[in-house]
Amino acid sequence: MTAGFISSFQSLGTVDGPGVRYVVFLQGCPLRCKCCHNPETWGIGKGDSYSADEIAARVSRYRNYFGSDGGITISGGEPLLQAEFVAEVFRLCKAQGISTCLDTSGCILDDAVQRVLDHTDLVLLDYKMTNEADYFSFSGMHLQQAERFLRNLNDRHIPTWLRQVILCGINDTNENISALFQKQQQYDCIRNIELLPFRKLCTAKYEQLGIPFPLAHIPETPKSRIDELLGALS
Ligand code: SF4
Repeated sequence: MTAGFISSFQSLGTVDGPGVRYVVFLQGCPLRCKCCHNPETWGIGKGDSYSADEIAARVSRYRNYFGSDGGITISGGEPLLQAEFVAEVFRLCKAQGISTCLDTSGCILDDAVQRVLDHTDLVLLDYKMTNEADYFSFSGMHLQQAERFLRNLNDRHIPTWLRQVILCGINDTNENISALFQKQQQYDCIRNIELLPFRKLCTAKYEQLGIPFPLAHIPETPKSRIDELLGALS
């Protein structure tokens, strides 16, 4: 029986992939992104343990809400740390006709991850920055790793959304946004690009955990700034 460590569930999520989705936040992440909203998911081997069958049964109870676009999203933390478990949950969901979506940083790419992708309908890839210096400094991961993951998705023709958190004074430049959107010319698998305004709702979580929030000094990004950046593209 494949089991996984879960941080939390969201039964009717609308921001992690298309339509209405049952979102499972897995526990454990090897990265420490400065803008992370879920620091409670970092610890590996913590959280509650559930079997893949239990998760598939929970998801199935919400299938009437999914409509034609919705389904399950597995997020985190970094879901690919528990790739065998994710592969089994997705396999069970797909067997019931439920669409599967993986929200990942793309920091791991091995045989177990390829087995997850065998059962994945859509990937939300956090493409954190468009230059190596910022990528590494803000996440601890190399841009090359994200590119390698994206190339693999493209080779496998897996529909992909790129997502990037926009931070004022750091990556809210026309140069960055245009480099991000140029990825669509390079990779046919990219179906959508989402610019996510930086939010600080997670500040209370950092305080509770006694961890300093590295971006406490940076203001939230207004939606109008995102609109300006998108407007400058056309
Ligand atoms: S990969 Fe996701 S969960 Fe992990 S630190 Fe970065 S933002 Fe947080």
